[in-house]
Amino acid sequence: MSRNQNTISLDALVVGAGFGGIYMLHKLRGMGLSAKIVDVASGIGGTWFWNRYPGARCDVESMFYSYSFDEALDQEWEWTERYPAQPEILKYINHVADRFDLRRDIQLKTHVTSTVYNETDATWQVTTNGNNDFSTRFCIMATGCLSAANTPDFEGLNDFTGRIFHTSKWPHSEVDFSGRHVGVIGTGSSGVQIIPEIAKRAAHLTVFQRTPSYVAEAFNRPLDAADQIHTKANYGKLRAAAKKTFGGFTVAGNEQSAMSVSEEECRDKLEEGWKEGGNSLMTSFGDIANNEKSNMRAQDFVRDKIRQAVPDAATAEKLSPEHLIGCKRICLGTNYYSVFNRGNVTLTSLGEKGVEKFTTTGLVTEGSETKIDDLVMATGFDAMTGALSRIPINGRDNISLNKAWEAGPRTYLGLMTHGFPNFFTITGPGSPSVLSNMLPTIEHHVEWIAECIDYLQQQGIKEIEADLQAQNDWVAHGNEIASKTLRYSCSSWYLGANVPGKPRVFMPYIGGMPAYRKKCAAVVTAGYEGFCLNG
Ligand code: NAP
Repeated sequence: MSRNQNTISLDALVVGAGFGGIYMLHKLRGMGLSAKIVDVASGIGGTWFWNRYPGARCDVESMFYSYSFDEALDQEWEWTERYPAQPEILKYINHVADRFDLRRDIQLKTHVTSTVYNETDATWQVTTNGNNDFSTRFCIMATGCLSAANTPDFEGLNDFTGRIFHTSKWPHSEVDFSGRHVGVIGTGSSGVQIIPEIAKRAAHLTVFQRTPSYVAEAFNRPLDAADQIHTKANYGKLRAAAKKTFGGFTVAGNEQSAMSVSEEECRDKLEEGWKEGGNSLMTSFGDIANNEKSNMRAQDFVRDKIRQAVPDAATAEKLSPEHLIGCKRICLGTNYYSVFNRGNVTLTSLGEKGVEKFTTTGLVTEGSETKIDDLVMATGFDAMTGALSRIPINGRDNISLNKAWEAGPRTYLGLMTHGFPNFFTITGPGSPSVLSNMLPTIEHHVEWIAECIDYLQQQGIKEIEADLQAQNDWVAHGNEIASKTLRYSCSSWYLGANVPGKPRVFMPYIGGMPAYRKKCAAVVTAGYEGFCLNG
């Protein structure tokens, strides 16, 4: 029997009020279905609600990190910067929720405590910590790829008496670092963004670095009227062109091999890419991501940039990565490296033992204690599976999703998992998701799911579920192509390597958006080939 008095019956429940959930709700409503969103947060925005640390900014250009489903929305919204800062993204998604009157079906501050499939009546029974539970035919997880914080289990952390922050759970009120001794652990995208901001205010900042990152200069700038007018006049064409690129980004890039030109020509081209800003460095040549020699040329180029930015040779050396560029996600920064020239910033490389322990007043590395007032963990996420694995989800025969995924996530197309009928994952593992521009990728999944649900309704079909063989084939195909890429070779969060004990499986689909879209469309044309349609 349910603990709660009320169980709301729905056609569809969407878990998560980020970009995926918001559009899914809009779509389901448009189909005349009863649908709601639940989210544990006190506001909408998903990852952009939580990651409100100083300096938080998207590394995709604002005018393309936006929905495309409504032309009027496209035309009316004015972005102010090339790369949008977190407050502006949050404002945008709130605007969308209001514009399409979505709030009345969004239940916030509600934590989903379990999701169990009832085979008898083909419904998902979703319990929450709120005043009501849900009984729903379709359960759609829009829980995000980078939403579950990775908080390392540092010895003695509970003894530390200073303030502790995590970039992905940043407080709503301003955190004042002035006059403080601050320690930041983590130099991935979040660390790269917050470190220069803290350095401006703190009495002293110590950055604890386990692995240095390749940081391309973002060259962020205000968007002028001409930028906006041009893009808005050509949105359709530009978005269609982006769909044809590997990651759904606007920059198609140069197809040439970096090894097909002289070293000097190569440098000139990389310099052009660098100056273009953002990810253009990586698309300066077509094979930086998959040819080790070409990759080395790009690595050398960035290491030179580091030496130019940081005159102190020992610091520059510590900041210089040795792994393949692009193997871990490349970071976008604004004067990141030069922060280490400041007198109030120290870079501490973590040795073999990493952070050895916390004391009441600081942390011990390489046997010596650094005293700090505040700790900022920029230690990332239990990516792609963390948000799902933290909710007990039980499908057919009461099998748990964690059990089904114990050797790594197994899905068909990243959309469904065998044994979990009518249970969809927006940008789930096994789909291009984090290797692509998330906004068009989210829209693609939402539209696929909506079309699928519509088909089931029209045909009077009770359940849809991934076929086991199709799922196995898809996972094998994903692993095979991933294993041939350079991305497979380093300990990134794509592989789950940042979370101790997590199975090492390359989680996103690395075959590119065009091939993936084609496959998803072909499956539909063939009557949902690879899915079992029951009843
Ligand atoms: P991340 O890339 O996983 O970086 C986490 C950092 O913490 C790494 O430097 C990692 O070192 C370090 N770390 C983790 N556990 C540690 C431990 N036990 N001891 C010491 N160091 C430890 O996480 P993130 O920076 O939050 O970024 C994650 C992803 O979110 C990005 O790749 C990007 O996709 C997205 N993101 C994007 C933006 C943007 O749009 N600009 C901003 C923030 C985040 P190792 O490298 O050695 O593991």
